[in-house]
Formats: sequence, structure tokens, C-alpha cells
Amino acid sequence: MAPDGQSPASHAYAPRTAPNCYDAEPIPASARAEIERLLSTGDLFRYTAPEGAPVALLEAEFAEMLGARYALAVASCSAALFLSLKALDLSRGARVLIPAFTFAAVPSAVVHADCVPVLVEVGSNYRIDMADFEAKFDDSIQAVLISHMRGHTSDMDAIIALCEKHGVPLIEDAAHSLGTLWHGRNIGTLGKVGCFSFQSYKMINAGEGGIMVTDDPEIAARAVIMSGAYEHNWKKHPGLQNSYHLWQNKLPLYNTRMQNLSATVIRPQLAELPRRVRDGLANHDYVADRLNGHPALDVPPALAPETRAPDSLQFNLTGDWTDAEALAFQDACKARGVSVQVFGLSQDNARAFWNWQFLGDLPELPQTRAMLMRACDTRLPARLTRDDLDYIADAILSAASEIRG
Ligand SMILES: *Cc1c(COP(=O)(O)O)cnc(C)c1O
Repeated sequence: MAPDGQSPASHAYAPRTAPNCYDAEPIPASARAEIERLLSTGDLFRYTAPEGAPVALLEAEFAEMLGARYALAVASCSAALFLSLKALDLSRGARVLIPAFTFAAVPSAVVHADCVPVLVEVGSNYRIDMADFEAKFDDSIQAVLISHMRGHTSDMDAIIALCEKHGVPLIEDAAHSLGTLWHGRNIGTLGKVGCFSFQSYKMINAGEGGIMVTDDPEIAARAVIMSGAYEHNWKKHPGLQNSYHLWQNKLPLYNTRMQNLSATVIRPQLAELPRRVRDGLANHDYVADRLNGHPALDVPPALAPETRAPDSLQFNLTGDWTDAEALAFQDACKARGVSVQVFGLSQDNARAFWNWQFLGDLPELPQTRAMLMRACDTRLPARLTRDDLDYIADAILSAASEIRG
């Protein structure tokens, strides 16, 4: 239990307990009345009501919040990435550049879309190595999918310039970047399509869910149909009539829609987002400053154009740590009640590219591998108190000193 529910007196004398970093915030009470209405009417399918279904309202609100023309809510961010690639109408077997530091669901979405992921090196600051990106961006590349892993933004100015030079579309995997800005613009609106997640460990929690945004009416129309707007359900999506006539019955239906209960849980959380983003960043920077005071730990800084919206913290073990020491550090954090994972040292980690055996022959990526072997990951939800943050920082610092003196 976090200590913030305790009275000041009991708090002063209470033994310090590790904060729970896994529980989400409660769903705002304002969702309850609409959930009750859905339960009592059974109106769960997004296309039953003639208008004003919760999923449609969410799409309108989300598009407006991000400043995008179209939004399509679906079952997950992975489904949104899959539909985005399908909506680009790439040829079968198209090669798609993706960073080698991401979640296994991202190369999986590429494979699912009949494309071939081409993995690009990621540096010790968790961002795409631009020299490798440029070297691998040859004429065989038909799309670029930038995964802003753990909310870290790569050099989008350079990436966009190269995509424009090659005339290749850019998809943003902004699953973990809701609220992040690049030169003051919303991440997820820089490329052709941006995809976000509502899975429980992201900024907005519906258990599962995803949404894609685009300004391109053809991409929006194609994605809407393929998401499962069969027959004339597309009429319940605003503003795309001409494009739909073009695609009706020409595209497969992958049926990966969002249902009304999910949208009802999400909508009242949109108003909470500015607070979560503000507190998440303040929490992150507070703990980062404390960890950076230790000679064997380093939290890489944000890039200059980037305003982050973190709900987790990544830091590197710097110097000549051995694998055994890194594992001992992980255990020492755990013994103090704080879960810290070295990405490359936990078995079967879905964020370590060498575990993506479904891709077949995996390239060797020494830079990304070196980063994964010393990069630590810990959750830092926006709701944590200053005491919680100090507990986490103290635990990590003392664990580092125990192992490295
Ligand atoms: C969570 C996450 C995903 C997958 O999102 P789902 O909604 O669970 O499919 C993809 N990419 C990144 C960077 C993520 O953090």
C-alpha cells in the first residue's frame, strides 16, 4: 500500500513500504452512469445505435484532442498498426523499417500485414541510430514504422526528412507516447498515421484497446472498412463518403473493432490526461535527477525538441558492469521491493530482439544488444507521491552502491 492514505502521525512512524507500481488509477466515477445504461440496454456494439455511440464519440473527441482529421478506435494498438500498414496498400512482402528496440507486438503487426520488418539499430539513449537508419533506407523500403518505445522519441526531423526524400510513408507507433510533444506538436500526428494503446500499462487504461489517427481520407476510409465496418456501417464515420464508395466490397474485413464499454471507460479519462502527463514527467525527472547523482547510473536526457510524457523510467548501468553484477543489482532492487528489469537479462523478454524467433533469421545488432544488456526498466505511474518516488530512488541508489560500492 502506498503511504498516502495514512494519517500524518501514523505516517511519521510507519515503516517505509515499497509503493505498488502496477495498479492503475480508478476509472473516473463519471463513467458509471453510461456503463449502467449500456448494461441495462445491452447496447454494446458500436454500430447498433443510429448515432452517438460511445465509440463514435471517443473517435471525435480523440481526433479533436490531437488535432487530427480522422480517428478510428480498434481492439488494440497492435490492431491499429496492422490496419495502418494494410491501409497503405503496400505490395506483399514489402520491407518496413522498424527500430530493433520495441515490443514484440510491433514486428508481429508487420508480419501480420504480410510485410517484412527490417530492424534498425538503437543507441544507448533508446533512440534510433540515424546512421544505421539512413544506411538501411534503400530503394527496397516501402514504409517506415517508428516505435516510440517507452515514450522515447527518436530524431523525428531527420526521420521525416528521409521519408520525404524517398517518398515513403511514415507510421508512428505512439502506443506509449500519448501526450508527448515534438517541437510542441503531438507525437502520433507527425507521420501519415499514428497509433495509440489503451492497454492498462499506458496513459489511458481500458484494459485493452487502441486508436489510429490520420489526416488522409483514403487511409482512413480503407482502415475503417477493414476494421469491420461491413455493408454501410461506414456511414456512421463522418466525412468520408467519396472514399468509401471507392472501397466498398473491395477490401477484406478483419473485424477488430472497439466495443462501447471500452470507449465508455476511456472517454472520461481524456480529461485526466493533462494531469497524468504533467505528474508523470515531474515524477520521472525527480527520480532521474537523483539517479544521475550516482556514478554508475545514467538516465539519458530527452532530445531538445521533445517534451516527454513518461509513466516509466529507463536508465543505464554505466561503466564496466558484468552481467553477474547487473543481475545482482536487479535482485538487490527486488529485495528492497522495487521491480527493476534489465531488458536483455530477463528470460524471454518480449522487448529483446533476439527473442523474436518468429521472424526467422535474426540479424545481429551489436549496438542495440549492448544497450539492452545494461538498460534498466522500472514503472513510475503518474499517481505516485513524493514519498513513493523517494522510496524508489533510495532503493535503486542503495542497490547500486551495494553492488558497485
Ligand atoms: C503497448 C505497446 C504496444 C502494443 O499495444 P497493444 O494495445 O497492447 O497492442 C505497441 N508498441 C509499444 C511501443 C507499446 O508500448
